[in-house]
Amino acid sequence: MTTTPEPDAPRTFADLGLGPQLLKALDGLGYEEPTPIQDLGIPHVLAGSDVLGLAATGTGKTAAFTLPMLQRITKGGPAPSALILVPTRELAVQVAQAAHRYGKEMSVTVLPIYGGQSFGQQLRVLRRGVDVVVATPGRALDHIRRGTLDLVTVEMLVLDEADEMLDMGFAEDLDAIVSELPETRQTLLF
Ligand code: AMP
Repeated sequence: MTTTPEPDAPRTFADLGLGPQLLKALDGLGYEEPTPIQDLGIPHVLAGSDVLGLAATGTGKTAAFTLPMLQRITKGGPAPSALILVPTRELAVQVAQAAHRYGKEMSVTVLPIYGGQSFGQQLRVLRRGVDVVVATPGRALDHIRRGTLDLVTVEMLVLDEADEMLDMGFAEDLDAIVSELPETRQTLLF
């Protein structure tokens, strides 16, 4: 008699290596199983690899980099441990909200910084210490030049919609920002 093997059951977020605090947050959000980009990407990011992910909007790419990032980075330090660069202020707000939701059980602090918003408000939060900064390149560079954004403690850099940032003419800004980061950081490009 021959037996047909059961098709592989889909992997769970726990199978991918995410810890209990993130699992609890995901459960609260009603995420039942990882999307393909999450299934593929999360283990590599957790392992500390640099990752290049190709995925369209709506495929769950924000969680694919944010979840393992939140698990890996140092929390509660005096300066940011993660920098996420995005092309637009809308995306900065959206990604910061997602990071905040996913990090709800680990008291992670997240700050979006983008042009058009007052420096004063951004400065006050930066001075208190923030774990994750989600920034548009122009405003990040403004803060770096004013000495109000210190990137020497950054452990992880994410370039979200990197192609869009290049199309928008941010290449020089990105070079200038990246040159401020420790060479030992992990880099994720989506
Ligand atoms: P994104 O591609 O990152 O813009 O995500 C698209 C939408 O899918 C967002 O509203 C997420 O909250 C949602 N989402 C991401 N991952 C999952 C998942 N594994 N299960 C259910 N919803 C998800």
